[in-house]
Amino acid sequence: MHYVSTRGQSPAQSFSQILLGGLAPDGGLYLPAEYPKISGAELDAWRKLSYADLAFEVLKKFATDIPEADLKALTHKTYTPDVYRNARVGEDAAQITPLCTLEEKNGSKLMLQALSNGPTLAFKDMAMQLLGNLFEYTLARQGAELNIFGATSGDTGSAAEYAMRGKKGIRVFMLSPHKKMSAFQTAQMFSLQDPNIFNIAVEGVFDDCQDMVKAVSNDLEFKARQKIGTVNSINWARVVAQVVYYIRGYLSATTSNNQKVTFTVPSGNFGNICAGHIARMMGVPIDKLVAATNENDVLDEFFRTGVYRVRKSSETYHTTSPSMDISKASNFERFVYDLLDGDADRVRALFKKVETDGGFDLSGKPGSDGNEFEKVARYGFQSGKSVHDDRVATIRDVQEKHGVTIDTHTADGVKVAREYLTPGIPMIVLETALPAKFNETIREALGRDAERPAGFENIEALPQRFDVMPANVEKMKAYIAERTGL
Ligand SMILES: *Cc1c(COP(=O)(O)O)cnc(C)c1O
Repeated sequence: MHYVSTRGQSPAQSFSQILLGGLAPDGGLYLPAEYPKISGAELDAWRKLSYADLAFEVLKKFATDIPEADLKALTHKTYTPDVYRNARVGEDAAQITPLCTLEEKNGSKLMLQALSNGPTLAFKDMAMQLLGNLFEYTLARQGAELNIFGATSGDTGSAAEYAMRGKKGIRVFMLSPHKKMSAFQTAQMFSLQDPNIFNIAVEGVFDDCQDMVKAVSNDLEFKARQKIGTVNSINWARVVAQVVYYIRGYLSATTSNNQKVTFTVPSGNFGNICAGHIARMMGVPIDKLVAATNENDVLDEFFRTGVYRVRKSSETYHTTSPSMDISKASNFERFVYDLLDGDADRVRALFKKVETDGGFDLSGKPGSDGNEFEKVARYGFQSGKSVHDDRVATIRDVQEKHGVTIDTHTADGVKVAREYLTPGIPMIVLETALPAKFNETIREALGRDAERPAGFENIEALPQRFDVMPANVEKMKAYIAERTGL
């Protein structure tokens, strides 16, 4: 199995070669040259597997340059009930991503798949925990080290730190805007005492943090000498790890491979739902993939009209489902590549146009860039949008009717999923975070605090370890160099 860039101008690479990197050198995203297929018989045989064994079966189709015994050890080390321990009362932690039925009427079933039982209470742990183990394994094999440098406004940074803490050969330098994250999120990150984790609170806003990451990454000499890498959502291994829970969800909701299911996915950067698309391309009987967005509706606009239009920062809203507050969908290029039947020259032209003109139009109307929008339905995509009042009403409604507290992102999913229920086809909403992370809105909706999983009761009172720094690139470089000794 080898990997090619969506823009067609980078050399083909193996799984291990793209594991530690981000964008392809030509600015594109890596994809397998061909999607491996899963047969109906194979799917049925997988029904009885544990999550770790299922992850192994899926990963070995993609990570063909890692010995199978090693891969199996890595998935078994990652997907344990001890790592994914924050299951709710009534959920079976051993299932890793337990599925429950919320409501059933007129032959339609609305289900919730819990993806946020990992250490940071968000779905990003599903892939990031595996990535931490894969990185450590690969670096040890190569006798190499890696310094992860990134910026976060919340979920990604903490998932990365909890995945990389204590890992040999890896340091994490994570920027966050000083005093701008919630007390819970700040405590989650800053209470880590591991010597390989460095939290840097930047005197500025999130954009200042991101600008510093860009400036440091653009200094190629510094980047190479300091062995700087990233773990953002375009990382291919993250996408593959996410394919596993779509298959698990499918198997848990069905009894034979001639049944179909639909997934609704609270979406921002298109990383999560991209994995659903890949599962479907591999042959998993997924009927529809519904992208649910918040007020930042870049994806909803595309799936309604065929127009992809990135937003300026002034048009990007700060919402109460903040992990979906995006101005562009960084994984979307992978789907566009498939939509254009792998025509890398056109993909390259379209995404160059995004840089110059802010978007492209595949609606087929006069003057548009193509007519592929008419093909989108064949890939099963649908979409919808949910705003703050919808979230609050949905959290309240699900609590009243079912006694389950859902978080704000999952609420966006449930709101949109209810618009697409189809008799006979289970609708699975992916639960992307636990409500304790977004307590303010839970209070607004329910008039009380969200329940906190065991061990998180007093997290704000733990000692915190972080450095405050001005938004100064030279100071940042000196800080890194001093700690790596490189
Ligand atoms: C990251 C995140 C999302 C969005 O996922 P994408 O892969 O960016 O589409 C949704 N909900 C939560 C809680 C998240 O952390």
